[in-house]
Amino acid sequence: MPELPEVETVVRGLRPLFVGQTIARCAHASPLMIDADSRNFVKQLSGRKCLRIDRQGKWIFCRLDGDDTLAIHLGMTGRLSVEPFDREILPHTHLRLCFTGEKNELRFRDPRRFGEILLVNGESFEERFGPNRLGPDALSIKASHLSACMESTTRAVKAVLLDQRSLAGVGNIYADEALYEARIHPGQPGRELTKDEIQRLATTVRAVLKRAIQSGGSTIRDYVDASGEPGSFQNKHRVYGREGKPCKRCRSPIELDRSIVSGRSTHWCRVCQMNSYQETSDSHSGSRVTKA
Ligand SMILES: [Zn+2]
Repeated sequence: MPELPEVETVVRGLRPLFVGQTIARCAHASPLMIDADSRNFVKQLSGRKCLRIDRQGKWIFCRLDGDDTLAIHLGMTGRLSVEPFDREILPHTHLRLCFTGEKNELRFRDPRRFGEILLVNGESFEERFGPNRLGPDALSIKASHLSACMESTTRAVKAVLLDQRSLAGVGNIYADEALYEARIHPGQPGRELTKDEIQRLATTVRAVLKRAIQSGGSTIRDYVDASGEPGSFQNKHRVYGREGKPCKRCRSPIELDRSIVSGRSTHWCRVCQMNSYQETSDSHSGSRVTKA
């Protein structure tokens, strides 16, 4: 699933092409993906100017004149691409936007349809994306905010990082990478983190995301940016996708665990990330930890 660095890379590719441009027409909007009467959606988009393209977490916000926002989430398999308007339209193409005077159009394709396309006005934007629904962007996350998210929760620190209401943009890859760099056990309850650990975690979250953006994000399965280029940060992962391979710090094998955060695969180093914590259960999972 595209996370913050991949979405940022897509946004950086779209801005120079479409900011300041006017949508001549919406050539196609699939009712399967549009959460409204799609004919009305098509009508509302025509003639609108794109003032800016923002990103918060994994959401892309195309700000239109008239205080409306076209909000797009790539979900699992969503892809925004810039293509000549006469190029073959692939199956699962759910949105096509043609801009005035442009030979290329913007297409949104999403085979698995976990993505979202919303057209929201100023008021409903606040309801849908206000601070109660979407946390601050992880790229500039502050230790004080992270501390407030962690201080009273017994949830695993990794689960808090993945919660988009706490901070927006971190998914499975970058949660694992940031926790490894900060030497924090992914299953450690949020409220047991020390001040130092929270400070370290805020720093590593920002640093890992920045480095990933510099590499154009991570391509695990099929992610490519708006011009079709894959990312290369997957070659620099220290834990994600490296199960069984030696830790780059201590040479112990990186472990893959599905019980630390249920339903998610967690990659971590039992030696480097145990730190001042030790397991209390005899489970090999390392999911239950307490202070040593
Ligand atoms: Zn290690």
